[in-house]
Amino acid sequence: MYIPQLEDLGDVKGKTVLVRCDFNVPVKRDENGELEIVDDFRIRSSLPTLKWLVDRGARVVACSHIGRPHGKYDPDLTIAPMAKRLHELLPEVEVMENLRFSKGEEENDDAFVKELIKGVDLYVDDAFGAAHRQHASIVGPPKYLKSAAGRLVAKEAEVLSLLLEEPNRPFVGIMGGSKVSDKIGLIRALLEKVDRMIVGGGMAFSFLAATGHKVGGSLVEPDQFNTCKELVRASDKLVLPVDYVALSSDGKFGLEERSGSKEVFSGDIPDDWMGLDIGPRSVGIFEAIISGAKTVLWNGPLGVCEDPRFSAGTRAVATAVANCGCFSVVGGGDSAAAIEQMGLSDRISHLSTGGGASLEFLENGDLPGLKALRESPF
Ligand code: AMP
Repeated sequence: MYIPQLEDLGDVKGKTVLVRCDFNVPVKRDENGELEIVDDFRIRSSLPTLKWLVDRGARVVACSHIGRPHGKYDPDLTIAPMAKRLHELLPEVEVMENLRFSKGEEENDDAFVKELIKGVDLYVDDAFGAAHRQHASIVGPPKYLKSAAGRLVAKEAEVLSLLLEEPNRPFVGIMGGSKVSDKIGLIRALLEKVDRMIVGGGMAFSFLAATGHKVGGSLVEPDQFNTCKELVRASDKLVLPVDYVALSSDGKFGLEERSGSKEVFSGDIPDDWMGLDIGPRSVGIFEAIISGAKTVLWNGPLGVCEDPRFSAGTRAVATAVANCGCFSVVGGGDSAAAIEQMGLSDRISHLSTGGGASLEFLENGDLPGLKALRESPF
């Protein structure tokens, strides 16, 4: 899939370039009540694109959304702390206020697009995390201006396209996380592409319950059982856990207050127990599959990895992915965090920052933001 790159913009010297960034970073108030950035990773990640433009003599205006102010000014969601941080790193860039303070952004209002691009010559989209949104600043400017993907968008699109178009085989998918309903469409689409699809985490229990296993008090979504059953019947690529680390209900099953005793069960889980991680036999099976892979895509934890009692499965899979020596792509907050906490980032080919956008790209093979860049008439 060809997407126009920065080089396709031609000479940017003296031109005004609007860059859609993703500065949606966590903030908190310090002891003086001032907003303070907790993690500036996304701001630092925007530098290669912004610097490329500044170094070539462009006047650069950056814009982004922060949180969900629903079209109204909200002092907690001002872009000021992000602008301050960016100016410490690259003083030449102008920063617009939070796009979502205007209703027109989420409503994709054409009048808002025209307002946004007043006095602007070129547009660059470097907000991959928002590329699945049909919002004004994402899909609007390419209709009126010569446009290109920034480095972050170009890299994500290249890596994710490679997975869909020409992965080295065996291609192994690993899906985890809590709810099967969030990812069932993705699992269905990926079953067409992968050679094996490992499913763990809370979502595995809907597949297991749907196919006649007893799962005790584990997380299930009964309205998904029919789809789960259909996928299990239709595909011999699905690999489900065979044993589980479970917690007894003498504590509470609620995620905040998880006390009780821990035990490993193979096959069925008794009524008063809740499966919160994959067990050691499953770990062994998954490790063997991952070690033989040439391409791995991993999204979502294999258990409740925030709790050290139930993080072994996720940690073992993180290690197996890092050690497999293959082309590996890891996406999703918890799986990427596990890789980072374990110091394995430099052994992963690509840590995807896109969240929902990455998953939607893998499911549909395209995103509104990428389509807009490709279809720009300039
Ligand atoms: P997601 O946001 O869908 O990727 O899900 C991530 C969440 O799934 C994490 O907060 C985990 O605690 C949760 N999770 C993983 N395994 C389980 C499980 N077996 N039961 C309940 N929640 C789980």
